[in-house]
Amino acid sequence: MKLGCIADDFTGATDLANNLVRAGMRVVQTIGVPDDAAAIDADAVVVALKSRTTPPEVAVAQSLAACRYLKFSGATQIYFKVCSTFDSTPRGNIGPVLEALMDELGCRFTIATPAFPDNGRTVFKGHLFVGDVLLSESGMRHHPLTPMTDANLVRVLQAQLATKPAPGAAPRRAGLVEHRTTGASAEAIRARFDVLQAEGVAIAIADAVDNADLLRLGAAVKDLLLVCAGSGLAIGLPANFGIAPSDRAASLPYAHGFCAIVSGSCSEATNAQVERFRASGGAAYRIDPLKLAEAQDAKLVDAVAHWAAAEWSTAPQRPVLVYSTAPPSAVAAAQAKAGAHETGSRLETVLGRIAEALVARGARRLVVAGGETSGACVQALGIRRLRIGTQIDPGVPWCHAETGRAGDGMHLALKSGNFGGVDFFERAFRVAT
Ligand code: ADP
Repeated sequence: MKLGCIADDFTGATDLANNLVRAGMRVVQTIGVPDDAAAIDADAVVVALKSRTTPPEVAVAQSLAACRYLKFSGATQIYFKVCSTFDSTPRGNIGPVLEALMDELGCRFTIATPAFPDNGRTVFKGHLFVGDVLLSESGMRHHPLTPMTDANLVRVLQAQLATKPAPGAAPRRAGLVEHRTTGASAEAIRARFDVLQAEGVAIAIADAVDNADLLRLGAAVKDLLLVCAGSGLAIGLPANFGIAPSDRAASLPYAHGFCAIVSGSCSEATNAQVERFRASGGAAYRIDPLKLAEAQDAKLVDAVAHWAAAEWSTAPQRPVLVYSTAPPSAVAAAQAKAGAHETGSRLETVLGRIAEALVARGARRLVVAGGETSGACVQALGIRRLRIGTQIDPGVPWCHAETGRAGDGMHLALKSGNFGGVDFFERAFRVAT
């Protein structure tokens, strides 16, 4: 292993892994910190945590455990992957985790940049833009858990850094590598790092508005023990390890069987994808949250598995879709009846069990739509590791997973709600793996 990555959420981990594969690295994503010492054959390992919105001390403890595992496994550089909208609160968790990792690694200087121009996230003069608007004017200002009301990332990060550091140590300061430097050359960026360090800056937000900026930045961070970024910076790191883009990085072990989609995402993009799949004559089974009753879960799971098996027996190549995806009015109606949290977690459990039943009936290529839904399905299938393969759409690759439920393993694509083109569900199965 060359590069060790710690991601603060599940689909973000896959997004990062996808970018590393496209830049030529062979990548494995683990669900949490592996509890065995078995060596992983990969250039980079991404440990997927769920630490974005936990109390800071929990995020720090999990991230340190991941860091120690990655160092032990041979990583020479650590990549702390955060959200491309820098999701956090004044308590953290980006600042506290970054400081703990710096202490752990004896790292005196690092950078932080969520820039991901391919996805419309750019940083200029330290300010984060989402598409054409400042972060603080984007939908992120209303996020239920991490409302982002300040687009100035130097200020946002500084507010999260410890005001009372260890005895004898000065509080860490945040600074900025401006675009006139990131737009110039890797040498200019490294020279700027030196100046900032001499001025007492420990963590620099780095401007980047296009991929060329990220490539220069990637080259400049070659000797840093630790970097913090969204998934964008990943395009510039494999070259530091002598790795060039290659199709071989995305090759996956073979998996052969039926095709299925489980969708619990109610995002706009997923609604359109489900609608399109149904309109084009795809076999679809709707799960209605208003008709769910705990006692009948087993019957429902059985009925869905029967239905899928019958569909596959007449058309073995065609994917089946099982979905609870619904437009906002229907979601509101279900939530009004049983509560938002309760409805969500009931559906996640049922969809996880359905995924398991479909795999038991021979599904070996499974698309899951929805971040939380993906977590539930991966857990139900007992998956601990994913090898990352070919990209279907930006941020969504096919993966290979070993699971006792699927003999030699299976192919899985985990789609975060708003990702993917409108024909994602049909196209996914045409992408060679
Ligand atoms: P996304 O990535 O689009 O946010 P998630 O899977 O993370 O998707 O979240 C969707 C949430 O909505 C899940 O908790 C899921 O169980 C819940 N959900 C799915 N279908 C419905 C529905 N018809 N009514 C209410 N909640 C639903």
